[in-house]
Amino acid sequence: MTTRSRQVELRYDPAEIDRKWQERWEKDGLHRVDNQDARPKWYEMTMYPYPSGDLHIGHWYAMAPADCHARFRRMQGFNVLHPIGFDAFGLPAENAAISRGIHPHTWTMDNIANMRGQLRSIGAIYDWSREIVCCLPEYYRWNQWLFLKFYQQGLAYHGMAPVVWCPSCQTVLAHEQVLNGACERCDTVITRRDLEQWFFRITEYADRLLDFGCLEDWPDKILTMQRNWIGRSEGVETGFDISEHGLDEKEIRTFTTRIDTIFGVTFVVLAPEHPLVEQLTTDGQRREVETYVEQARSTSEIDRLSTETEKTGVFLGTYATNRLNGEQVPIYTGDYVLGTYGTGAVMGVPAHDSRDFVFAQKYGLPIRIVVAPITWDGKELAEAHVGDGFMTNSGKYEGMTNEEGMEAIADDIEKNSWGRRTVSYRLRDWLISRQRYWGTPIPMLYCDGCGIVPVPEEDLPVLLPPDAEFKPTGESPLALNAEFVNTTCPQCQGVARRETDTMDTFFDSSWYMLRYLSPGYEEGPFAPELAKTWMPVDQYTGGAEHAVMHLLYSRFFTKGMHDMGIVDFDEPFLRLYNQGVILGEDHEKMSKSRGNVVNPDEVVGQLGADAVRCFLMFIGPWDQGGPWSDVGINGTARWLNRVWDMVERDASELNREPDDSKTVRQTERLLHQTIRKCYNDLDKFKFNTAIAALMELSNHLNKVWADASIGSEVWRECVENFLLMLAPIAPHLTEELWGRKGLPYSIHQQSFPAWHEDLAADDLITLVIQVNGKVRDRLEVPADIDEAAAQAQALASPRVQTYTNGKSVAKTVYVPGRLVNLVVN
Ligand SMILES: [Zn+2]
Ligand SMILES: [Zn+2]
Repeated sequence: MTTRSRQVELRYDPAEIDRKWQERWEKDGLHRVDNQDARPKWYEMTMYPYPSGDLHIGHWYAMAPADCHARFRRMQGFNVLHPIGFDAFGLPAENAAISRGIHPHTWTMDNIANMRGQLRSIGAIYDWSREIVCCLPEYYRWNQWLFLKFYQQGLAYHGMAPVVWCPSCQTVLAHEQVLNGACERCDTVITRRDLEQWFFRITEYADRLLDFGCLEDWPDKILTMQRNWIGRSEGVETGFDISEHGLDEKEIRTFTTRIDTIFGVTFVVLAPEHPLVEQLTTDGQRREVETYVEQARSTSEIDRLSTETEKTGVFLGTYATNRLNGEQVPIYTGDYVLGTYGTGAVMGVPAHDSRDFVFAQKYGLPIRIVVAPITWDGKELAEAHVGDGFMTNSGKYEGMTNEEGMEAIADDIEKNSWGRRTVSYRLRDWLISRQRYWGTPIPMLYCDGCGIVPVPEEDLPVLLPPDAEFKPTGESPLALNAEFVNTTCPQCQGVARRETDTMDTFFDSSWYMLRYLSPGYEEGPFAPELAKTWMPVDQYTGGAEHAVMHLLYSRFFTKGMHDMGIVDFDEPFLRLYNQGVILGEDHEKMSKSRGNVVNPDEVVGQLGADAVRCFLMFIGPWDQGGPWSDVGINGTARWLNRVWDMVERDASELNREPDDSKTVRQTERLLHQTIRKCYNDLDKFKFNTAIAALMELSNHLNKVWADASIGSEVWRECVENFLLMLAPIAPHLTEELWGRKGLPYSIHQQSFPAWHEDLAADDLITLVIQVNGKVRDRLEVPADIDEAAAQAQALASPRVQTYTNGKSVAKTVYVPGRLVNLVVN
């Protein structure tokens, strides 16, 4: 059905042209990047694909426009590195192995072989000699090397922690991999466990990660997401006294950003995971509390934090003392408080916190106003007042503004050693360990005598054994492989066991930009002199869904490597552009179940790579995405067909000398305006408007050919520049046509055309503006201005307005190219 609707009669055989030039470019090494090239460097990266086995149209949408931009930079005179590789570790390979009995290595490498062919069909300038495949030891060896460096630096540590667990994938997930309380991969509702895990201390870099100063051009949306994810807040940590209960712990530590409201505390809430919950629960309350805690542990964090979820809790039966006013307040446990954030306990101030307000209403707890809104009439609040106001019901702080109160109370708390000003972050350390097979083995050993021992650098790589049992059991599959597990301690030569967890695959992508520089390098993760040449990456493109994972991890990783002296820069990607999403014809997300998936191989076979590239870039602004359209791709193919006809015309059929100097001037102006527009638009990823400008130029050229109103030289100049501008967008067709014109191979080694401002400038004339027949102004306007525009400009003139203000225009007289007379009364 869709096949038939995509048939367009073409003058040329697109499949043949694609094949011919891809082979020729490969044979000539046209896309090989020379590190020694004298031109200024430009490192432009697109996010590497996961080898799922099939390149879909979404990959094309990410990669074809990115290639166009990289090609444009090359035509601007840069030595452009635009590499590609495969993000080859990860769960799908293992799941395929489990469901189909294929080894993850075989499944992955077969998929890569297939996708290489599909990626080549895009016709991109990938330098295939720089390809990286993360699941091969020559790559993951350097994951291990870097892990050891971070460990030596104190940035990697082993610890017990409550972790998020996917019961279906049977592995730990990073917090970033949980979406709406479910595993982002399989959509199973997550649970929690306490496990010994490896962590990277990303929290130590929280403040530096909030400094976006070195980033030249990143979307605000991503910076906001990172800022919120890091979640820095300044506040006061203070304790509520529980010494009367005779426990080791004498206080409940709470963190608040609103210490000014402490006189309004009417209860304290502990997270269900809080270690004091059990100790502070009275026998009478124990059953109810235990049931509640058990239930909370299986509820996802996102659901617990959701504003829609009902705020619930259980009274422990005991009280804590607010040291500022000596009041006793009841202690609750409630799942809207997280054990992993802040101190795991909050002071309940219902009058000034929305969640506490709901909680207090539900459990009949007092709601006491302590920061009075200026317009407060002394009555009860209908909802929490979270804004500013004057301190009230607050002892000696009465009457201060709440900002003054905040400082005064914090000062007094510090003076009395009841707490301190501090900064709290939402960001938590990066959990690296995965209980799965298909990943990089963590290069650590456990020795009964020596404890945790790093694998010596010279023993790397720790190879992933090919013969593991990789069915998920909740334990790492490597733990069942005795040959892998049992080893000798390098320190005491005693018996040692290997770490059997593997690394999160985001480890691989945290530094892959460096491996492209020298993928075969054996002395280190990358050749240092090449990092000096190429890094940082000038332009990175990819999906916004990586905002708080890959894009944050790689920034952290780079800062860590910088501090260890491994690299001399501390941001990996100077500029970032997020493309949008390509949707199905029905404007819905493409999916097999909806049946709206477009197979790029099929369309490329019918209409050629260039038609697909061109269509994808034409559908709308790249960052906004848009729906696929068979009508649209056919239209694009027809336009390229008309371009073929246009370029193939024999210019000598025209007179050498132009017949019509006005048309010549008009044509040259349009050519130079189009060059200027294409240059500026391609520079800023505005592919759709660049293509629209080329379409306008080709329409004009077809018209003047039909009139034979320009000479052969001008025609040639227009056609050659047209091909050069189209080259980064449609590389195959333009190379073919360029060759057929007898122009020197390759069009892709030419410079992008330059425009002349004077030729691009609109011809100007002076328009006389009259009001009731008297000259009131003279305006410089484009020579071809029409009546409506002339009248609008006349009415906009401040000088004219002094004569027309308060009056109505009864009539306008327009003499083209000369004057506008406004008749007013
Ligand atoms: Zn899962
Ligand atoms: Zn030992």
